[in-house]
Amino acid sequence: MAAFSLPRTLAASFIALPLLGTAAMAQSTQDAATAARLRDTALKDDWGYRFLENETTLIGQRLAATDAEARAADWAEKTLKAAGFENVHREPVPMPAWIRGREEATVISPAPQHLVVTALGGSVATPADGIDAEIVLFREYSQLIAAAPGSLTGKIAVVTERMPRVMDGASYGAANPIRRAGPSEAARRGAIAYLHRSLGTDNHRIAHTGATNYQPDVTKIPAAALSNPDADQLERLAARGKTRVHLLLTPTVRENAQSWTVSGEVKGSEKPDEIVLIGAHLDSWDLGTGAIDDGAGDAIVAAAGKLIAALKPHPKRTLRVVLFGAEEMDYSGPAYAKAHADEAGHIVLAAESDFGARKIYTFLAPPGAARTPFVRTLADTITPLGIFMNPAPAQRSGDDIAPLHRLGVPVIAFRQNGLDYFDIHHTADDTLDKVDPRELAQNIAAWAAMAYLATQSDLDFRKLANAQ
Ligand code: ZN
Ligand code: ZN
Repeated sequence: MAAFSLPRTLAASFIALPLLGTAAMAQSTQDAATAARLRDTALKDDWGYRFLENETTLIGQRLAATDAEARAADWAEKTLKAAGFENVHREPVPMPAWIRGREEATVISPAPQHLVVTALGGSVATPADGIDAEIVLFREYSQLIAAAPGSLTGKIAVVTERMPRVMDGASYGAANPIRRAGPSEAARRGAIAYLHRSLGTDNHRIAHTGATNYQPDVTKIPAAALSNPDADQLERLAARGKTRVHLLLTPTVRENAQSWTVSGEVKGSEKPDEIVLIGAHLDSWDLGTGAIDDGAGDAIVAAAGKLIAALKPHPKRTLRVVLFGAEEMDYSGPAYAKAHADEAGHIVLAAESDFGARKIYTFLAPPGAARTPFVRTLADTITPLGIFMNPAPAQRSGDDIAPLHRLGVPVIAFRQNGLDYFDIHHTADDTLDKVDPRELAQNIAAWAAMAYLATQSDLDFRKLANAQ
């Protein structure tokens, strides 16, 4: 009987092979069971929704570097401490505070009428009595870019390009230069003010704000977004002949202000110096109460972290929950990466939730990690939530962690149904009633499973990414 006469080492390898095979397929059975339990607990727990309700009710809007945002930082610290997080603290994000003022636009001729607009974050003010000027309307942003230097002298440039509705929100990125760069591009061609169709997919008479970035070598001109129906109205008026518009914006800026980034940790039981970072942003625009952007993200990562904080013993690695202070005005990500540059090598994986509260439908694994026990177990755990793995590797996972990613921190990304996200994004309509508690819980369940499996994993995600 040959099998009985096999050398001892070879026999051992027959026994060991299936075990190794199992280990390569999935994280330990115990880890998988814990992840499943966290998932199921999250689906029944309403702590995350109550967190969001408190954030949007007790604080409301949280415009960066204002008193309202400072109150949000106080509240977030207290809430994270009460939830069992350790090392809860805040870090300053120096920035100027931009405060919205009056924002009025009217058609003067040929048919006097009111227009719904909202100033872009960072916009300069108009003169105190406003600007009266003829508009030059471009239905495509590329037509503005193609306009000759000087061709808009003394005019208000208007761009009415539409942003299509898509599942993953990719059209927002494509349309972003209209708001970010449009004012400076118009000024470069002589314009004295800039209006654009809101970067929004709704047909409501409500305008979408958002930050603009002036280019340093051009005059800063006042800039505002039009509601979609008002952009349509200007298209029809401009098609009929010369149209004059009055615009009044009175924002102010307080220099040397600061925003705050708040964080808390679940200290690792075996490798506390290895950090899995999950984040969202605490600041919001001032028009609504920042429920979908990004109170929902705050609730998702805080609730996922709270479930893990309750585990005894804690997972091997440290879980850090970061509520960034000034995402909307682009300050928090660079400030955090700068302050934590020395520590970046210890952050083994990072992810950010900043796309509302609709259900997650897919995730993108860290580069090189698709066939690892961590990803296999995660996929098995969250398939019942309706989440499948997208085979593309994660290359980004939120603006606040992009600067950390550039320092070599690997990322993992969840994608949510974003079909209606840009109906209310950055508007006065971004309020709690838009969030479905069950959909929020699905997010928390997926994030809790991911954060647990990553903190309990021994994988070196950086090495896997570098081997790609
Ligand atoms: Zn956001
Ligand atoms: Zn936003």
